[in-house]
Amino acid sequence: MKYLSIFVLSFLLLTGCKNEAESTQANATSASQESSTEQADFAIVIHGGAGTILKKNMTSEKEAAYKVVLEEAIRTGYNILKSGGSSLDAVTKTINVMEDSPLFNAGKGAVFTNAETNELDASIMDGATLNAGASAGTTTVKNPIDLARAVMDNSPHVMLAGAGAEEFAKEQALELVDPSYFFTENRFNSLKRIKDSEKVELDHDNKQAFFDSEINDYKFGTVGCAALDKNGNLAAGTSTGGMTNKRWGRIGDAPIIGAGTYANNASCAVSSTGWGEYFIRAMVAHDISALMEYRGMSLAEAARTVIHDKVGGLGGDGGIVAVDHQGNMVFEFNTAGMYRASMNDKGELIIKIYRD
Ligand code: ASP
Repeated sequence: MKYLSIFVLSFLLLTGCKNEAESTQANATSASQESSTEQADFAIVIHGGAGTILKKNMTSEKEAAYKVVLEEAIRTGYNILKSGGSSLDAVTKTINVMEDSPLFNAGKGAVFTNAETNELDASIMDGATLNAGASAGTTTVKNPIDLARAVMDNSPHVMLAGAGAEEFAKEQALELVDPSYFFTENRFNSLKRIKDSEKVELDHDNKQAFFDSEINDYKFGTVGCAALDKNGNLAAGTSTGGMTNKRWGRIGDAPIIGAGTYANNASCAVSSTGWGEYFIRAMVAHDISALMEYRGMSLAEAARTVIHDKVGGLGGDGGIVAVDHQGNMVFEFNTAGMYRASMNDKGELIIKIYRD
């Protein structure tokens, strides 16, 4: 009888432990839906901005046009990584493709300031060394991500702004353009609509000054990329024209290391897009990394916590793309959509726009 009880008790204990192990496993899986669990050789993930992107406001031509550029961009970085190139090169060249497209709010498609100019911001970070570079408020540098990279590689500083940043760009022989290069009719019309509504909207709040009734949103199309290379090095970068109708030299999160961009080989690489003021206050990109490093959270868990609880809790909106040191990739956003794509080391491509 005594032996029978011991047997029954041991059996119950063992079954209980097994069930607990299974349920822990199940939680871990559901916490990283868009991720793999094995160590990947390399991985790359991009965004082209988050916002009120609804299928009903899109034409199939427009949707296809965005997908073409997203695919061209991510394949550029993928090919660099596949042939053993660095994550920093993959991030820079991938962002260049989106900067050169008028579809995104970066480089050629940058939004207009209240003064009808275009002021561009960008940043990049190397997860292996924690080196970083950023530029803010430039008006003549064709590809701001190249300037951010030059600041990191060839200056003793992390962030340069305005005229000084442009002087440095010239010294670095980066391509400079006349400010009119950044003109696109779409973006200019968006500024006009916002300014017109400001005139009639006398008691507008802070948010009203940026709301474009036609696109039904405040901002659109910042670009960013995060990548892991074959040497296990992570990098991230972000480039933007900021927010339409911004004034007084306003600078958003995109060029701020820790807010718009962060990379650390010990945790992850992150690029943000969204309402910059909230992303700065929540230190979004670094916070995700910190939750992984200090709290042991998975990338998916950390990203969800920061975007939904922290940014959402403050009343902000936007999203991130990120990859961790194992090659797990995450898209997380609290807006209706986010232009986004990922490619893993098997060449599997995901391109999405809406929430799904
Ligand atoms: N984060 C950018 C800014 O606030 C805008 C965006 O991502 O759409 O400047």
